[in-house]
Amino acid sequence: MYAEIVFNRPISPYTYRIPENMNNIQIGMRVEVDLSGSLTTGIVYRITDNCSLEDIKPIKQVIDKSPVLNDDLIKVAEWISQYYVCSLGEACWAIIPKGVKKRDVKVKHDGYSTRSKDIFELTQEQSHVLDELTRAVERSELYTYLLHGVTGSGKTEVYLRVIKRVIEMGKGAILLVPEIALTPQTVRYFEKRFGNTLAVLHSRLTKAERINEWYRIMNGEKKIVIGARSAIFAPLKRIGIIIIDEEHETSYKSDDTPRYNARSVAYYRAKMHNSVLILGSATPSIESYYLAKSKKFKLLELTTRVLNQNLPKTKISDLRKVRGRKFISNQLYRAIETRLKNNEQVILFLNRRGYSPFVFCENCGYVMKCKNCDISMTYHRNKKKLICHYCGYTVDPPELCPNCGSEKISFSGFGTERIEDLLNNLFPGAVIVRMDTDTLKRRKSLSEILNAFAKRQIDILIGTQIVTKGLHFPNVTLVGVLNADIALNFPDFRAAERTFDLITQVAGRAGRGEKGGEVIIQTYNPSHYAIQTAKSHDYLTFFIQEIKYRQALNYPPFCRIVRLVFRGKKQKKLFETACIAIDIIKEKAKNKVVILGPSVCPLSRIKQNYRVHVIVKTDGIAGINSVLFELNSKVKRVSGVYMEIDIDPISML
Ligand SMILES: [Zn+2]
Ligand SMILES: [Zn+2]
Repeated sequence: MYAEIVFNRPISPYTYRIPENMNNIQIGMRVEVDLSGSLTTGIVYRITDNCSLEDIKPIKQVIDKSPVLNDDLIKVAEWISQYYVCSLGEACWAIIPKGVKKRDVKVKHDGYSTRSKDIFELTQEQSHVLDELTRAVERSELYTYLLHGVTGSGKTEVYLRVIKRVIEMGKGAILLVPEIALTPQTVRYFEKRFGNTLAVLHSRLTKAERINEWYRIMNGEKKIVIGARSAIFAPLKRIGIIIIDEEHETSYKSDDTPRYNARSVAYYRAKMHNSVLILGSATPSIESYYLAKSKKFKLLELTTRVLNQNLPKTKISDLRKVRGRKFISNQLYRAIETRLKNNEQVILFLNRRGYSPFVFCENCGYVMKCKNCDISMTYHRNKKKLICHYCGYTVDPPELCPNCGSEKISFSGFGTERIEDLLNNLFPGAVIVRMDTDTLKRRKSLSEILNAFAKRQIDILIGTQIVTKGLHFPNVTLVGVLNADIALNFPDFRAAERTFDLITQVAGRAGRGEKGGEVIIQTYNPSHYAIQTAKSHDYLTFFIQEIKYRQALNYPPFCRIVRLVFRGKKQKKLFETACIAIDIIKEKAKNKVVILGPSVCPLSRIKQNYRVHVIVKTDGIAGINSVLFELNSKVKRVSGVYMEIDIDPISML
């Protein structure tokens, strides 16, 4: 007997002999074999009786007692490998959990608690949506829904009830959320309703816990899976429904090979299982909403908040007119003051951590940049260091300008650390806590901060993206967006969409109780359509503007994009290789593509590697991925150049 083994490398499967004493070996098990002289883990992909090759090496050892991949997931791996242009082994490794099952490990849960009512009366809209989804589930056919519900419209309750129906039918359900730690309320709510049949795939699970949950899902003990991106691979036997909450979130896209999007994998799995797929969001991605508008997806809407809450009143502070204190307008200052007086809580959002994002010499204009990346260094005052946010390179801040020797070093701009500092001076009596990746690493866990916030022990919570997602605190009556322009100024065709999403999501944290809420957006671009439409909670108007622009410039959803990023130490060689790649694509794909570039990436150098990219626009990926496979094998032979293939990229930086 022989086995074809795949590896977590950009190579094809290799054949090995199965020794007599290993005849219990099965497809989907991990094994150890000799791969070019070193002991390497592989996965059994096929088993055959005969082999025409000679001198075949034996499998050294079997790792798993039972397969870690079933047939269903092997098909998913094959699809990923084809669509995202990677080896089958690389696709398998994206799917399987790390770790090996040794003994049973119980999973402990934690989280913060808020009081909430357990049984809700559904609104009329919720009932209507639930009826539609329940009927779809009962038909056992592929249906894709886009559930567009404003923040606080009670999507979770709908999810919960339709999943209940799926379980009654003897099938399983997957619910994807962007980040488990940020949705403890949802998780607790599901735990209460579904108890032991629920598997929560937390990023903080140990390897052993994770693999144990994996096998419990595989053997049917667990029927409902909640998790972030990789939970889309949960080995459920029969899937009745897949729900992707906050479907617009960029965290559903993997940034390592294979660069898969859980949304696309979900569609593939739903099709295989004849199940229902729900994409839910208050700010659907332009692509999904376009598909809904063109009737490829069915659009369901929740236009009102539950419990008759109103959406928060939103105001714009024009930073061009602000004198003096640039980081906080008088309007926002007074609004915070009022909240503190009334014992209400405030969330302030700034998507930039550190103290000062820009350190330069006032005499000659020299900017402190990372020596490895073409990125300006951020000053972190707590650590008294300049840090590169891309590679982590750290240096002491200079006392004299390295260029001209001047002492006039300026620390300009505002990060969350500086805002925390300034707010402490402005509101000395208030309890102010910063929540970003720096403080979460150092001081407190996320759940500790959220617990304290829920107990009203914190007056002002200031943070990065973390504060925009999912939080539900009824006593928060004011949300401030300190600088709405940061996302807007990114050199990326989705900059307006990101800005609209961020503002809408963070604004959604305000007014989730009886007292109502207010949002203040600070910006230098008050008339920009992304900011204007976010102010009026008007997704549709935003979509209409944005889709015109996408069409005019031929960007998704009007085409598909493949982005090739070439990185290496010598920029000239990158350009040469990129040009060879372009020639191959032009020759093979003929008229089916439009090619932009090669050009230097907006992030031109990271970790000492230069970066050059080529953007390929095409009508369909299926038409060109065979070309990309060929390209891959050619470029692989060019030394000193590494090529990333990104299908449907979400970042153009
Ligand atoms: Zn200088
Ligand atoms: Zn760097």
